[in-house]
Amino acid sequence: MEKQRRNTKTKKLVMDVFRHEAGALCHADIVQRLEGKIDRVTVYRILQGFFDEGIIHRISAENGKTYYALCHECSAGHHADNHAHFYCMGCKTVSCLEATGQLPQLPQGYSASESSWFISGYCPNCRAV
Ligand SMILES: [Zn+2]
Ligand SMILES: [Zn+2]
Ligand SMILES: [Zn+2]
Repeated sequence: MEKQRRNTKTKKLVMDVFRHEAGALCHADIVQRLEGKIDRVTVYRILQGFFDEGIIHRISAENGKTYYALCHECSAGHHADNHAHFYCMGCKTVSCLEATGQLPQLPQGYSASESSWFISGYCPNCRAV
């Protein structure tokens, strides 16, 4: 039982990182924000678990990194993250573009495991500089 409780606690810490962040995060970002409280391998495992549970989705960015962001309408084993993502070349952040309308629905029988719809440019913060 002790192990179970510790597991829940580490998962909550990772979840808090996502809750306090507006955009998407890569693995290194998450490890950095946890300030060494959880080792990198455990973070990977938790992220995989969240993905399987439909809590976060994976985003493959053009810079070769994988980012993670919270889901809104997903359930375990089924992701419905039908939106594009934005990569800011200024602050190097990734955000979900959930307000830009729906992307084409996948035909029946297809299941997306990663969302790679990407638009690159500058976010409002970086454009202002
Ligand atoms: Zn999802
Ligand atoms: Zn920016
Ligand atoms: Zn997204």
